[in-house]
Formats: sequence, C-alpha cells, structure tokens
Amino acid sequence: MIVVMRADATAEDVAGVVARLERQGLSAHVSEGEERTIIGVLGSPMDHAELGPALEALDGVDHTVRVSKPYKLASRQFQPANTVIEVRGVKIGGPEVVMMAGPCSCESEEQVLRIAEAVAAMGARLFRGGAYKPRTSPYAFRGHGESGLEMLAKAREKTGMPIITEVLTPGDVALVGQYTDIFQIGARNMQNYILLEEVGRTEIPVMLKRGPSATIEEWLLAAEYVMAQGNKKVMLCERGIRTYETATRNTFDINAVAYAKRESHLPVIGDPSHGTGVRSLVAPVGLGAIAAGADGLIVEVHHDPDKSWSDAAQALGFEAFGKLMVQGAAVARAVGREWSDAGVEV
Ligand code: PEP
Ligand code: MN
Repeated sequence: MIVVMRADATAEDVAGVVARLERQGLSAHVSEGEERTIIGVLGSPMDHAELGPALEALDGVDHTVRVSKPYKLASRQFQPANTVIEVRGVKIGGPEVVMMAGPCSCESEEQVLRIAEAVAAMGARLFRGGAYKPRTSPYAFRGHGESGLEMLAKAREKTGMPIITEVLTPGDVALVGQYTDIFQIGARNMQNYILLEEVGRTEIPVMLKRGPSATIEEWLLAAEYVMAQGNKKVMLCERGIRTYETATRNTFDINAVAYAKRESHLPVIGDPSHGTGVRSLVAPVGLGAIAAGADGLIVEVHHDPDKSWSDAAQALGFEAFGKLMVQGAAVARAVGREWSDAGVEV
C-alpha cells in the first residue's frame, strides 16, 4: 500500500503517518516528490480494508492505493522519481546515457590499461573488467582474483573512470568492496539471495544482471532483496535471456528495458554484448536499447578481440567501439537524452 499525502501536508503530518504505521508493526518508506510526499508501506498489513480508511483519516493524507506488484521498494509506485546513482561524479539514471566499457576478463595489467585508456578517450564513463569469472566450463579461465582487482584500480587511477566488477560469492564482498565502485551481480547469481543480502548491507552501488531464465518480476524481486537490506543504490541490467532461438547466444529482451523503466525508478543498463553474443550485433542492439530508454550500456571491448581470454566472439575492437559511441550519442539525443562529450571522437 502507498499513502499519498496532500500537497500541503506538513513534516509533522508525515511523521504522524509513519508513527501510526510503526505502531501497527509496519515500516514506512518516505519518498519526497516535487509536489507530494508518498509513503510506501512495508510489511504485511493484516487487514487492508481497515488500514486504508484509518490512514486516510490522519492529518495531511490525501488517499491510499493498494500496490498489487510484489516488489515495493523497487517499484515506481513507491517512488515516482527516477533513482540517480552517483559514482565518483558520474550520474547513472539521470539525463545522461552513460557508457561502461572494458574487457570481459582482466588478463594482464598491460591489457587492462591499454583498453581503459582507449575507451576513456572515446568517451566511456565507467570501466568494466572481470576478476572473478563465472564460467560455464570449470576448465575455462576463471579470473585472476585479487590481482585482477588491482589492475582495475590502476586503470581507475590512470583514467579517472570508476570501475565495475563482478562479485561471485558472499565471502568475497568485503574484499571486492575494497576496490570496486560498483558491484556487478552476474546473471547466474541473480537468485543467490544470500549474496544479494550481503551486497545489500553495504553502501556500494550494485548492478543486478537479469538471470538467463528469470522473469522481469523475479528480477525486480531480486533488486528488492538488495534494497530491503538498506542499499537503495541498485541498477538493473538486461543482458539477454535463454529462449528457443539458437542463432544468437542469448535473446536481448528489449521489452524488458522499456518495461523496467516504466515499473521501476531504478536505472536500467543494457548489455548488448552478452545479450547477443555476436560482435556484429552488439552495436545495433545496443542502440536499440538506448532508444528504448536504457540509462546506459555495458559493452565488452578488447584491443585484439579474437584473442580475448573470454567471450571473444562478442568483443568489440576499438574502431567498432568508437563507431558505437558516435552513433550512441546521436540516438541518445534523438530520444531526448544527454551524452558526455568528454571523449575524443574518432
Ligand atoms: C560478464 O559481464 O562478463 C558476465 C559474466 O556477464 P553475465 O553474468 O551477464 O553472463
Ligand atoms: Mn563476458
């Protein structure tokens, strides 16, 4: 349930509603909009039929609305205004469409720095790279671990770009958190609720990838797990789902981008690299995601794409990434968004 306050409600009125909810064993999520304050009710109100009128009788309350969706903190009903997550001066979820780029895996310091400098010069705002890799085969390269995190920290030092990297287990959260600016929760871990709660107890922003066979509702409920622990800095990432189609690695669900933007206030990032798995499709699908309302893209880039230690088939070379940046700017502006001109156009 949400409680919509009147436009002239005072701070005392809001406090009165919160106190009334707490007496009933419920908790309140207060969202101050430009015109009105909305109070989201969390918990299981035993009797909605009685609670609604009781709340509506309090000072400053305009009306109450039942929230039918199971996710609450992540829903736009609870918080109508977009969440904007600021990471070292880069705003995600605001007017600007932000580009995150870098290799699938951190292979060596030289490789990481070379790619970081190139993508920064082309206007990328955040740098990605995997130090802990979830791999389909146990015999594949599974990442350098902490030394990979050190490579990422060096790249941040050299370029100023904040970094994003995957954390695989609850036990790694403290260590990865010493390095990273954003935790990436991988698709395979979307329903690892213990991991979600662990990152939810930190204050580090989280990018939550959609599970390969998760419904949008399950994805938003996974975001709810993080937020329910107190960390509200969550962004959603559509990275393709498993369908009957075998022509591409995954099927990028562009519906999910537009739907998540409509139903949730959280920033939505498109990952056309994993969403397609096919180099030549990364740019067109990424541009489609921007047009559909994505707040940014995360793209795998490598100086020698065919030699990438992981996900070589979907890695973009520098030239292709540069082209995507130029086209991305045009598409973003065409749909009323902003684009950073910080990079040097190629
Ligand atoms: C990755 O970002 O390299 C990755 C492993 O992604 P996903 O979890 O979407 O497969
Ligand atoms: Mn990858």
